[in-house]
Amino acid sequence: MKFALVIPDGVADETQPVLGGRTPLQAAHIPFMDEVARSGIVGRADHVPASMPSGSDVGTMSLFGYDPLEYHTGRAPIEAAAQGIELGALDWAIRCNLVTVEDGRMASFTAEQIPNDLARSLIELLQRDQCGDEHWKFYAGVSYRNLLVYRAREVAAPFGPRTHTVPPHDITDQPIAPHLPSGPGSELLRDLMERSKPVIAGSKANQARAAAGTHTATQTWLWGQGQRPSFKSFQERFGKRGAVITAVDLLRGMGRLLGWNVVEVAGATGYLDTDYAAKGRAAIEVLKQGQTDFIVVHVEATDEASHEGNAAAKVKALEEIDRHIVGPLHEYLKSQGEYRLLVCPDHPTFLRTKTHSHGYVPFTMCGTGISPDQLTTYDEITAAESTVCLDRGCELVPLLFRDA
Ligand SMILES: [Zn+2]
Repeated sequence: MKFALVIPDGVADETQPVLGGRTPLQAAHIPFMDEVARSGIVGRADHVPASMPSGSDVGTMSLFGYDPLEYHTGRAPIEAAAQGIELGALDWAIRCNLVTVEDGRMASFTAEQIPNDLARSLIELLQRDQCGDEHWKFYAGVSYRNLLVYRAREVAAPFGPRTHTVPPHDITDQPIAPHLPSGPGSELLRDLMERSKPVIAGSKANQARAAAGTHTATQTWLWGQGQRPSFKSFQERFGKRGAVITAVDLLRGMGRLLGWNVVEVAGATGYLDTDYAAKGRAAIEVLKQGQTDFIVVHVEATDEASHEGNAAAKVKALEEIDRHIVGPLHEYLKSQGEYRLLVCPDHPTFLRTKTHSHGYVPFTMCGTGISPDQLTTYDEITAAESTVCLDRGCELVPLLFRDA
């Protein structure tokens, strides 16, 4: 049997006055998702434990069947996996943002979308000037998203579960002082952040960007630290060979950690202009090749639309996903034999707050051996009527694979 999961990231939302009192899922014309609902079941799942920050790292881990309370060690180790950076058992990965701090406030957690070449040159300077210590190694990523790794070299890091750091995107425009790293080993992190200031200020290229009137990087911000998660591979755990299509590093990293094939699709941007049809075609192609039992197609565009507070763009992205991914994929699955198809986001992202939220997301699932319920549309309001309600979202994938 073949299995497919389509993730419209952050699609779950509230009713919107601008959409006539409907949620984006209700307002969008999504006949193919509704067909899944009509021929299968609709329910609710909660992928983000209340004690954890809501994000795709936590949400997708649960969506892929792994309880984040048990397995989530931090965001940085997942991003390290995406970049192909191997972590030893005692190593720690730490996210290293290049940020703009002005008058003691977090003016920009992206250093105003710092260009790649400038970011890379700053990371090289930091590596040269800050890392007399053999344990630290910086890795340049994309723009402001870089990594720092503590290489243990048989000397365990001073960090632990009680080392506390704060995502810089959560403190935009706020004073940074109350949000500096705290707990075990935090003095090392604070020291590295402090020492980054003169190094970054000394960069000619960075000075030139500031002189051109752009707020540019003033320091690093370290957060998201963690050790390599101790996953059992997806195949060992569920007996299915997985593959993922995504434009987002975090999802690539999750895929690698689970032992999945990470499929790159030209034209997949992680933004509203992504090539939806190319992703749909690629998903079918992967299944046709016969090496994959479980294909995951992740689309970031719905989440991005929410971060921008743009209801119309969210509805449009949803309709594109329906027409170009869910439609053709379902058609193919029906044509090839036994299958099950699941549509579910990782977490809600509210247009009202422009940020990730906790709470239930609606899912819909159909296919071989799944008897239809009475519910016929895929949206939050319908899902709330369902008797299927998973407080531990990580039980959804086992439900998809049940008796198969
Ligand atoms: Zn997400």
